[in-house]
Amino acid sequence: MAKEDFYKLLGVEKNASEAEIKKSYRKMAMKYHPDRNKEKPQAAEKKFKQIKEAYEILSDAQKRSAYDQFGHAGVDNSMGGGPGGFGGGGAEGFGDIFGDVFGDIFGGGGGGGGRQRSNVQRGADLRYNLELTLEEAVAGTEAKIRVPVLATCGECSGSGAKKGSKPVTCSTCQGHGQVRMQQGFFSVQQACPTCHGTGQQIKDPCRKCHGQGRVQENKTLSVKVPQGVDTGDRIRLGGEGEAGAHGGPAGDLYVQVQVKDHAIFTRDGANLYCEVPISFPAACLGGDLEVPTLNGKVKLKIPAETQTGKLFRLRGKGVKPVRGGSIGDLMCRVQIETPVRLTKDQKALIEKFRESLSSGGKHHSPQEHSWVNGVKSFFDKLTG
Ligand SMILES: [Zn+2]
Ligand SMILES: [Zn+2]
Repeated sequence: MAKEDFYKLLGVEKNASEAEIKKSYRKMAMKYHPDRNKEKPQAAEKKFKQIKEAYEILSDAQKRSAYDQFGHAGVDNSMGGGPGGFGGGGAEGFGDIFGDVFGDIFGGGGGGGGRQRSNVQRGADLRYNLELTLEEAVAGTEAKIRVPVLATCGECSGSGAKKGSKPVTCSTCQGHGQVRMQQGFFSVQQACPTCHGTGQQIKDPCRKCHGQGRVQENKTLSVKVPQGVDTGDRIRLGGEGEAGAHGGPAGDLYVQVQVKDHAIFTRDGANLYCEVPISFPAACLGGDLEVPTLNGKVKLKIPAETQTGKLFRLRGKGVKPVRGGSIGDLMCRVQIETPVRLTKDQKALIEKFRESLSSGGKHHSPQEHSWVNGVKSFFDKLTG
């Protein structure tokens, strides 16, 4: 089921201000309130829910910006938007919703529970996935990253008021940010419903940020990646997250490291592993191999009669762990390669070689010998 455009639902333009959205929402919510649509209550309820969802997104600067960028996919959160997902549905349910909506506009209204709202909020923490090559992760590097963040609006310097104008002292609370409400015998101090506790009102919202004081921006940052980081490590950049709302402190940016697969090496903690194919004669006779390390080639001596799969350890040729500790090793696993594209002469030589292996009376293949015996006794048991 494709969702309708939130701006269309509320009957406003894409660049509508917060106040315009609120006003239009109020009008639409009135129009589609099920109490006023006795003939078609179900259709009205459906429409009402859509309008409410649209307003919830567009009245929140962060969600609105996500919606503007990514559409419905940017803000979907399975919040029971589908048919029937509307708790209770009775008159009470709608009452609650109206309390939410009109409480905002008319000032506290129903007076339920002294919700203390401070509008100064720390900005959200952000996460950035940084892909590194193994070489970069092991040696450390300086990475340039571009991060989309909500930054303080440059047009209004975060005030939310149109250029040239200033937020004015709130007329409801005279700038205190708090109002006294009478509730039965009690007088309760509450955040001012008009200015949400900021003590100021924006009459003429900034066009760039729609009065939010923050805008979506890309910023380029330089990240110092220390030596030895691995997949899953995080680098924290304090204060580089989202700008805070209404003058609140900015959040942090967490750079999450992801090390790409390497053509030759795999890594396990401080150790590196690599596979080294060797020829059959080299495995038989032994000798020096040239093996790669992250800092160039080194010589590896292998003994005569080396078996396939044998691991050779090159001490100190691994990774220096980012959290300290000694440098790891490079583990080379040799794989004996069966020769291919043999000529007639070469095949004849190997045939001769095979004959010589079986004529000497020695077990040249002890593994094969014991395996064959094992299989034989296994079948003897089965049939015996
Ligand atoms: Zn602005
Ligand atoms: Zn106020």
